[in-house]
Amino acid sequence: MAEAKVREVADGVAELFLPLPIRPTIVNVYLVRGAEGWTLIDTGMHTGDSAAAFRAALDEIGLAPTDIDRIVSTHHHVDHYGASGPYRQLSQAEVCLHPLEAERAAAARTALGEQPEWLRRHGVPVVPPEEQMPSPARWFGTVYSPAIPDRTIADGDEIPLGGGRMLEVVWTPGHTSGHCCLLLQPDGILFVGDHLLPKITPHVGIYPNGPENPLGDFLASHEKIQRLDARLVCPAHGGVYEDHRRRARQLIDFHQVRMRTMLELIIRRPLTAYEVALDAFAISPDNRFQVMAATSETLAHLELLRLKGKVSRTETDGVVRYQSR
Ligand SMILES: [Zn+2]
Repeated sequence: MAEAKVREVADGVAELFLPLPIRPTIVNVYLVRGAEGWTLIDTGMHTGDSAAAFRAALDEIGLAPTDIDRIVSTHHHVDHYGASGPYRQLSQAEVCLHPLEAERAAAARTALGEQPEWLRRHGVPVVPPEEQMPSPARWFGTVYSPAIPDRTIADGDEIPLGGGRMLEVVWTPGHTSGHCCLLLQPDGILFVGDHLLPKITPHVGIYPNGPENPLGDFLASHEKIQRLDARLVCPAHGGVYEDHRRRARQLIDFHQVRMRTMLELIIRRPLTAYEVALDAFAISPDNRFQVMAATSETLAHLELLRLKGKVSRTETDGVVRYQSR
């Protein structure tokens, strides 16, 4: 039997540590006690190891799966929503998700792999198919088992848990378009998913199908989160901490510095997003995953700079380049 990894972070709030076969190697999901049942926040991936850790944690708390009457996910990513299908079946719980995330979860199975034309346009060298990343549909086939949500959630929604407790939905687009944080009241406990991680910065990127200005959204979401009152922050990766405002300011600063670094790189000559990414991120050009992630994250910065009027974008022979104004 898997070793149970669970910790009570507040009265009736349990943190479960579920293993991931990728980095980061652990996702924290949370169980919140209500009057009649428990609410599960995020699900982990759909793997045997994660399911075993989940069941062991329920045993340790003394819960049966059917004691969970609601599953709310912060966003559709595989480590947050990947096991929602089987857990919905196991618990008969109502599954709640933001509609933009529901859309992406439904599209994951048919998602395309690398899109060579789009990559070439942003300066990424074209590689033969065998060196490309496997298509998400193939990879997700095993570890991603998303439920069709029973209910969609929106900014400002209040989800009553009974016993005087409720979860307030705080829409925080950026890492994904429909990412939501959840504020447990009256406890003042803020579940932040990937929005406000204590040690790492979540990925924010532009892909062939958008979004248009995810970094602008992400920074605005960090202004928004600072207006909330919370005494404890429960992230999906890393330890529970206090002072969400301080961390939000740090993340804003981090991206401002990164934007300045990129601006300096394109003062003298126009560069593609890929060329800027090679310099701004310590990536290996042979690591296709890093190349994709860094290029799309660089684009998010360059596009925000362009919208602010600080850089211009030109397209020559189907290749897009950016230069400081
Ligand atoms: Zn994520």
